[in-house]
Amino acid sequence: MPTATSTRNRQRSKEWYQRAQQSLIEGVNSPSRGAAVYTPGPVVLERGSGSRVWDLDGNEYVDFMMSFGALIQGHAHPTIVEVVTKTMSEGSHFAAATPAEAEAAERFRSMVPSAEAVRFTNSGSEATMLALRLARAHTGRTKFLKFEGHYHGWYDPYCLNGHSHPADQLGPKDNPTRFPDSEGIPAASFDDVVLAPWNDLEALENILRRDGRELAAIITEPIMANMGCILPREGYLQKVCDLAHQCGALFILDEVVTGFRYAPGGCQQYYGVKPDLSTFGKALGAGFPIGAVAGPRAILDRMRWGSSMVLHYGTFNGHRLTMRVIVANLDLLSAKNGAAYKQIYAAGDAAIAGLRDIFLRRRIEAIVQGFGPMFQIYFTGREAIHGYRDYCQYADAAKYSRFVHGLLDRGIYMTPSNGLHWIISTAHTTQDVETLLRAADEVCAELA
Ligand code: PLP
Repeated sequence: MPTATSTRNRQRSKEWYQRAQQSLIEGVNSPSRGAAVYTPGPVVLERGSGSRVWDLDGNEYVDFMMSFGALIQGHAHPTIVEVVTKTMSEGSHFAAATPAEAEAAERFRSMVPSAEAVRFTNSGSEATMLALRLARAHTGRTKFLKFEGHYHGWYDPYCLNGHSHPADQLGPKDNPTRFPDSEGIPAASFDDVVLAPWNDLEALENILRRDGRELAAIITEPIMANMGCILPREGYLQKVCDLAHQCGALFILDEVVTGFRYAPGGCQQYYGVKPDLSTFGKALGAGFPIGAVAGPRAILDRMRWGSSMVLHYGTFNGHRLTMRVIVANLDLLSAKNGAAYKQIYAAGDAAIAGLRDIFLRRRIEAIVQGFGPMFQIYFTGREAIHGYRDYCQYADAAKYSRFVHGLLDRGIYMTPSNGLHWIISTAHTTQDVETLLRAADEVCAELA
């Protein structure tokens, strides 16, 4: 069990990270894993089991990142290991129809209420890309609306206002300043993007009065998970869905983070909304690369082969290994009357309550937002963070980073980026929560 020691020897991590930087940009394959967020460099991980990971120096951590939420069953779950080993021995992938892909789709449909059919991709980014193409084909329109601070993958037109910016530069709510997230994207890629603040119906209605008739879709995360963990106001998602329909646009729910996490049927089940299309990834694949688009046949059938089809190819689509993992994963999640979800909620809610208690007791201005499977801590004097603009103005991301670096030194593995979120898997136990709370209390004593 990790003990609360203040500084850990990370010599081998340091050396390995230096070596990696000679061949990889910033020593990693995604900027959120390297020195851009971890000071002076990342912990280099070598092994994982259940809720625990070990770095190159043999330090043990309780993992609350769970591979950006992909590992809903924790590391190296015995059932998943067994399925993978068996499937590999039979051949990992065929350029052919397989029973595995049909079985995975059947399990998927039995859990996700809006899924008359599903198409598997290899990542969440591919899924949201495909959903937009389907929406455009279905409506015959090209524009779409996305919300400030929402992340839908790295496809060109989605890369707008995905990072935080100084609050005084955000512009009026009904005409937000547009910040591309990346170089190398033609300005024209954003011509079809309408941008709106989230969780703000008045602003959305004003924007839709202006642009609504031209929209193919409104895409939203159900819980804003890429500025931490920001919950929708009561009734908000249903209202956005209704407004989209009034404009003749599709309502796309991006459940890449929330799918299979908050309920068997994701946030659409939890909040009782019915999207026209929804996208999935992460938890669906229990650690294997995956994405999916689900919806009614009337829309998904547009991918049927023919002169007016919506094109979607992919060498690795329906990868047999991943399909078998999906079947095993969804069976685990469905077993024993939802016991997996009960366990996740119990551990998550205990962590949230414990953290709130520590902040109160230590007189630290911080809030914990979320419930059950996912939450985020904001160092702020506000009662809540309701959206991107609140996040940019009121969340002290530098303080959060200091807090998490303190936790890393005490055996808690988490990203210092305030824009991500804490993830609870089926592998997390009461003991893990206690380890977290002990470490958090120590760090808070220092911060206070
Ligand atoms: N949509 C949301 C809401 C996400 O958070 C992410 C990734 O974090 C994506 C889409 C993209 O998924 P992937 O990283 O699998 O491409």
